[in-house]
Amino acid sequence: MYKGIKCKIYPNKKQKELIDMTFGHTRFVWNEMLNMMNTRYKNNQSLKPLKRTQLSVLLTQLKREYTWLKDVDSVAIQCSVLTLFETFDRFFKKQCKYPKFKSKKHVSQSYTSTIRGNNIRFNENQRYIKLPKLNWVKCRSSIQHIENERIKSVTVKRKSSGQYEISLLVESENQTLHKTGKSVGIDLGLTDLAILSDGQRFKSQKLHLKYQNQLHYWEKRMARRRLQAKKQGVSLIDAKNYQKAKQQVARIHEKITNTRNDYIHKITTYLVENYDTIALEDLKVINMIKNHKLARSIANQSWQKFKMLIQYKCDRYDKRAIIVNPYKTSQMCSNCGYDSGKKTLDIRKWSCPKCRIEHDRDINAAKNILKIGLGQALVK
Ligand SMILES: [Zn+2]
Repeated sequence: MYKGIKCKIYPNKKQKELIDMTFGHTRFVWNEMLNMMNTRYKNNQSLKPLKRTQLSVLLTQLKREYTWLKDVDSVAIQCSVLTLFETFDRFFKKQCKYPKFKSKKHVSQSYTSTIRGNNIRFNENQRYIKLPKLNWVKCRSSIQHIENERIKSVTVKRKSSGQYEISLLVESENQTLHKTGKSVGIDLGLTDLAILSDGQRFKSQKLHLKYQNQLHYWEKRMARRRLQAKKQGVSLIDAKNYQKAKQQVARIHEKITNTRNDYIHKITTYLVENYDTIALEDLKVINMIKNHKLARSIANQSWQKFKMLIQYKCDRYDKRAIIVNPYKTSQMCSNCGYDSGKKTLDIRKWSCPKCRIEHDRDINAAKNILKIGLGQALVK
């Protein structure tokens, strides 16, 4: 099941030029191909319609002849040919009229491009969308949260008003999930990203370890090159080496964010599929792991995203999310409720002085979170 989502975009001057150029180039390819097919048909009416692969060969030739076709998104060009092929196919099946030439004069113009890797995606707050060849374009979407993984293709349109919009083809989700009758409490942590009250653990990806050297390398270069530019009196915008380092830093951060989000999506989907009520701690601030800025920021962002996605997905699939105050959840005994005081982070296991039960620190916390959450659910 797919659905279309429309979204206004606000391209800058350069992006507008590139979009307009893509309209022109895709239209050119469509018309050239259509012309070829027409001639072919006129010359010999008994010829069979061209196959999809034959069309791609023709496209390659066309690209060789008109090298400027390379200036725009190549997938959009391919899509144009593919649509022409499909139109012909439908025509021969008597499902539609014979394809027409496209006119430059037509007020509304459009082109379509399909997903390759993650070349079409929203940024974190969904204010920008990355589009093939155009890079980040400012946008405004009416729908709150669109999962990047579900985007299949984009159609960029210039409306007759001169405004630009895109419509995204998005794989739609299964809207109702069956009820399992199960509830779970979740403790979010560092070594394990999520610990469930039933003992399941989802390991932390340790992305800071994977990327900190790379990041450090480019951050140092960025700082040095900034100084260098200053000394030479070059403005930072013109300092090419500085800009390159800056881009590298941004790229690494982007990579971390993408990997992190994919992982959290997987876990949260698993959770809403398997539990009806999910209790989660409200965000705590980490004041430990000093001198570890990257690890701390990744953990904070992960927890934030986790909470956001759990709330969003529960809402969507008709499950229940309960946010619990983290107060004392790691020092109370989940069995008898006895508060045996603060425990430093190095204490992973302890036994309750009152009921003597053995506790794993995190699972005990997750159990408390579930208990408090279910209590809150009864009150509300
Ligand atoms: Zn106890």
